[in-house]
Amino acid sequence: MLKGSFPIGRFRELKTPFYYYDLALLRRTLDTVRAQLDLNPEYRVHYAVKANANPVILRTIAAAGLGADCVSGGEVRAALENGFRPESIFYAGVGKSDDEIRFALQSGIGRFNAESAAELEVINEIAGGMGRTAPVSLRVNPDIGAHTHANITTGLAENKFGINYEQLPDILLLTQRLPNLRYCGLHFHIGSQILDMADFVALCNRINQIAERILRSGLPLGDINVGGGLGINYQHPNHLDIADFAAYFDTFRRHLKLPEGTLVHFEPGRSIVAPCGSLISRVLYVKEGTTKRFAIIDASMTELIRPALYKAYHRVENISSDEAEEIYDVVGPVCESSDVFVKGASIDRCHRGDLIAIRSAGAYGESMASQYNCRPLPPSCFDE
Ligand SMILES: *Cc1c(COP(=O)(O)O)cnc(C)c1O
Repeated sequence: MLKGSFPIGRFRELKTPFYYYDLALLRRTLDTVRAQLDLNPEYRVHYAVKANANPVILRTIAAAGLGADCVSGGEVRAALENGFRPESIFYAGVGKSDDEIRFALQSGIGRFNAESAAELEVINEIAGGMGRTAPVSLRVNPDIGAHTHANITTGLAENKFGINYEQLPDILLLTQRLPNLRYCGLHFHIGSQILDMADFVALCNRINQIAERILRSGLPLGDINVGGGLGINYQHPNHLDIADFAAYFDTFRRHLKLPEGTLVHFEPGRSIVAPCGSLISRVLYVKEGTTKRFAIIDASMTELIRPALYKAYHRVENISSDEAEEIYDVVGPVCESSDVFVKGASIDRCHRGDLIAIRSAGAYGESMASQYNCRPLPPSCFDE
């Protein structure tokens, strides 16, 4: 079976489970993104911190010159502490608390992506009290479904996110009227793990339509933030280790029709960090069931919840065996039937103590870890 390359000797010394990050791959990914940005001087990329907020990962991404997209005060703090410039930090979220707004204003972040009239009033009031002006974009709900898991589509009218685009002109006027806000542009985000570029084409068409209407009614457009959502190939991490950024940026280059010089912001999360991370675990027991064979490993849904939460697939490799493949359900020790990484997977024969790599786990893995069952949070280690 084809496997990733791992420092297995080093792994043998370490207590499992832990996250392993290939920073060389992360840097190659960032180079790929930057090469795309060099083609478009009006494009800006802000890494979506919620995908992975590990300080080493954040510092590596900040060093590549990207901005940050944050969805909580805690993420704004993490971005600031790990080298992102305040002006490059954008802050989105449907439920920003007063404390979070105050902290973001104090820090001088580049943008609030606001999602309702009620929120605009509150940001305006807090900014006024601090003698500041808040730079604000409006998050628009484009009512576009991405062909992805229902729990990770965010751009439909039925989702809680954004401002309905019928209400947009009124809310834009309100933003201009409130004295402590500075209107800066529009923000969109349709979902995650999107592999069909037609979904992004639909987003571009909707943005073009909205931009045209706004400009026609004499309102300012500002800049455009198209959100994140580019997917990665979870099936073949050894062949396709970098997301298709060329096809992604090319789609926006071809389909966005905006006035000359309009800045366009992107917020990729998963596509930057998913491939570079693996969850490393050990086989505790091999259990022969009546109809199935289980590999019970020491990692669980508390380190990586995506299979349980989204029925997400991650490739599982036995990196310390070269024996013939057998069929396993690979499961964790947590007391939930959903604590299963993969069912019926073909993996090199497992023995107690074998090292298991759960691939493409760099996004929404460590950042979603919990302490359910009183399990400790997973540590991390890096190449080099
Ligand atoms: C989650 C999120 C992103 C990143 O999504 P990915 O699918 O990880 O690229 C970008 N923008 C916003 C507003 C988000 O909530």
